[in-house]
Amino acid sequence: MSRYRLHPSPAQEATLLEHCGHARYVWNLAVEQHAHWQPGRTPAPGFAEQCRQLTEARAASPWLTAGSIIVQQQALKDFHQAMANFFGTTHRRPTWRRRGRSEGFRIVAVKPGDVRRLSRKVGQVRIPKVGWVRFRWSRPVGEAKSFRVTRDAAGRWHVAFAIVPVSIATPGTDAAVGVDRGVVVSAALSTSELLTVPALGEAEKKRLVRLQRALARAKPGSKRRAKVKAAVARLRAREGDRRKDWVEQTSTDLARRFDVIGIEDLKVSAMTRAAKGTLEAPGRNVRQKAGLNRGILANGWGRLAARLEDKAPGRVWKVDPRYTSQTCNACKHIARESRENQALFSCVACKHRDHADVNAAKNIRDTAAGHAVAARGGLPLGGPVNREPQRDLLLTG
Ligand SMILES: [Zn+2]
Repeated sequence: MSRYRLHPSPAQEATLLEHCGHARYVWNLAVEQHAHWQPGRTPAPGFAEQCRQLTEARAASPWLTAGSIIVQQQALKDFHQAMANFFGTTHRRPTWRRRGRSEGFRIVAVKPGDVRRLSRKVGQVRIPKVGWVRFRWSRPVGEAKSFRVTRDAAGRWHVAFAIVPVSIATPGTDAAVGVDRGVVVSAALSTSELLTVPALGEAEKKRLVRLQRALARAKPGSKRRAKVKAAVARLRAREGDRRKDWVEQTSTDLARRFDVIGIEDLKVSAMTRAAKGTLEAPGRNVRQKAGLNRGILANGWGRLAARLEDKAPGRVWKVDPRYTSQTCNACKHIARESRENQALFSCVACKHRDHADVNAAKNIRDTAAGHAVAARGGLPLGGPVNREPQRDLLLTG
């Protein structure tokens, strides 16, 4: 996934906003239909049925007919993928979309001639009913199969091309790594490296607090309020960009350095429970940590796992997370008491001591390496995670 800043002219922006409006309308229609569905009732309309209904809706509404059928159909497709993710328990249920909040639409069947470079820093992409729109050529663009155009809350437009992901060559060293979603840090590696998802800096956080106060004081509908709101959105967008960059860099780095990558097999719902569980032994800043975990959960962890599987297909192993944090990596003794506190593991059996998250990461590494060896030997321990390629699915974060 590569994202570029899109620079539409004012006239183009009007049409882009119309596309967003159509996509939102179709999406919300689908949300409505599925909202009435209950388990055990007749099935909610599937994709094919909804496409048929879309054709009817277009016939009845000139407003929709004037728009792009691709935009509208893909909104339906995005919705069905979102429902599939929801039933797969990796995502929350798709909800109603509101105007002005991370809007976007997707274009498929992109031909090689639909993206071109104008100069060193300027490219153009052809968007149905809009024409050629400029974007900042900040990196090389691979051969795109589809792309998604988004407008964030700060009013910035982006285009993200879905490129057939280039998997990264395995180093061929048999090196294995375990990645633990830490409580104290964002992620711990079995190599003892501790990774932190970048957040806003101290000065930025202070500014955010000031802005939020100003927002609370500003008169509804006033110019000042709109201005402060935009400034808040810009800060949030900056934070989101940093997270995305972090995920890309971290996944590339791990895929390059290790043959076997073990990660916790945590469904988002299970992770939420785990976060609560850690609060049973509350320390200082527990609320903040809970907040941090929620942030990782929503934006970083799932994305990191998905990108690892894109970049290192067949080399990522999802490991049952039970006991990884209570098992001593040195002697394999399992005891809750060994987890002295959030940060320190101190084995009650052999006195082995380690950073608690690193100890867990090592356990994950060992299990993953075991699976990988068994798979090579043909033992039925289960294969690497089979995931449908998701590159052309919902791509906003
Ligand atoms: Zn031990």
